[in-house]
Amino acid sequence: MQRVTLLGSTGSIGQSTLDVIRQNPGHFEVFALVAGKNIRALAEQIREFRPQVAVVSDPADLPVLRELLDGFPIPELLAGNGCYSQVAAAGETDVLVSAIVGVAGMEATYQAICRRKRIGLANKETLVAGGSLIMGAVKQYGVELIPIDSEHNGAHQCFRAGNRADVTKLILTASGGPFRNTPKEAFASVTPKQALNHPTWKMGQRITIDSATLMNKGFEVIEACWLFDLPPDQVEVVVHPQSTVHAMVEYNDGSVIAQVCATDMRMPIQYALTWPDRWSAPVPRIDWTKPRSWDFHPPDLDKFPLLRLAYETQKAGGTATCTLNAADEVAVESFLRGEISFPGIAEVVEETLQKVASVNAASIAEVLDKDRESRQAAAQIVAEKSGARVPA
Ligand code: NDP
Repeated sequence: MQRVTLLGSTGSIGQSTLDVIRQNPGHFEVFALVAGKNIRALAEQIREFRPQVAVVSDPADLPVLRELLDGFPIPELLAGNGCYSQVAAAGETDVLVSAIVGVAGMEATYQAICRRKRIGLANKETLVAGGSLIMGAVKQYGVELIPIDSEHNGAHQCFRAGNRADVTKLILTASGGPFRNTPKEAFASVTPKQALNHPTWKMGQRITIDSATLMNKGFEVIEACWLFDLPPDQVEVVVHPQSTVHAMVEYNDGSVIAQVCATDMRMPIQYALTWPDRWSAPVPRIDWTKPRSWDFHPPDLDKFPLLRLAYETQKAGGTATCTLNAADEVAVESFLRGEISFPGIAEVVEETLQKVASVNAASIAEVLDKDRESRQAAAQIVAEKSGARVPA
């Protein structure tokens, strides 16, 4: 019986993780659930999965949660970001699934690594912002960190087909997002509703917009560099609209090993929880008796400048990638509020990178300081573009 702590239980990945647990009775116990503002969903999860501890981001939500649990045996209830580390690193946690959007779960993930927990990592921002410190700790403590991001999860499988030293290239596939065939000139009039309409994946809002700008693929390039110890030039992106091939690894002899499965996040989540075992999964199989075709195209870096910026910041090193992530998060939120245009997202990110100096952070606290500084700078740039007031 594996005891799971789930950061971001109410989100898209969180709900899929709980479904994997639901589908495999007797194998997992939920020790702790951590959520943000969706208290109603959390209350339902507590009733079904009976965790020992539940954590919310805002203490003001605790009375609401107590009320919603009316009459139900209440687990230990905690609130505030500091408590995420407490449950992630607790003796009762065997596996941590890290799926809070943004950097709010980074410190807790780091603390769990330092306590030698197995990590299922969905939250790519943790590696984008703090890759050097996180992977340093993974190596130091000999931790099994299994990526849940479908491309990296696929790559984790492809890397096991040969010697690491014989790998020449990692290829990450990208669906291309909803604007793959939209001319760049039409981007100025793209609405949030159009950008949130992802062709192949159902995900949270931020990652969906990041998929439309290809920022998400840029984050994945950075994530891959850290996870598999590769320079950016050895990580290629190829647009594959069917999203069925998730990753490919090329070896010295020119052989390419590809990982293929249905577009359902329960696959990589279950793999992360059970690896090296593989259990039966409740997702559709590919029917190889039916005709099908797969397309592969190079990405258009002129149309999607954020992918180019991801390569540049990873090559630059230091906290540039932390700033990339923070600026993008601010810009995406502003776009969703209608304050900036779709092309404005890339402009805000690029201008923030020019404004914020990159440093070599020696601790997670320093990374989070740089994250705050970058957010402030990005908010200022958004305010200048939109005429809005900068939030304090
Ligand atoms: P969602 O927006 O669906 O969910 C985000 C989760 O984080 C929610 O549970 C939310 O809580 C919680 N949360 C947000 N802020 C805080 C906070 N300050 N404290 C505690 N909890 C917080 O996102 P996704 O599930 O789509 O993505 C989660 C992560 O996984 C991201 O890093 C994303 O890049 C990555 N990922 C997602 C994939 C997907 O298919 N969805 C694929 C690959 C990676 P609440 O809802 O209660 O406010």
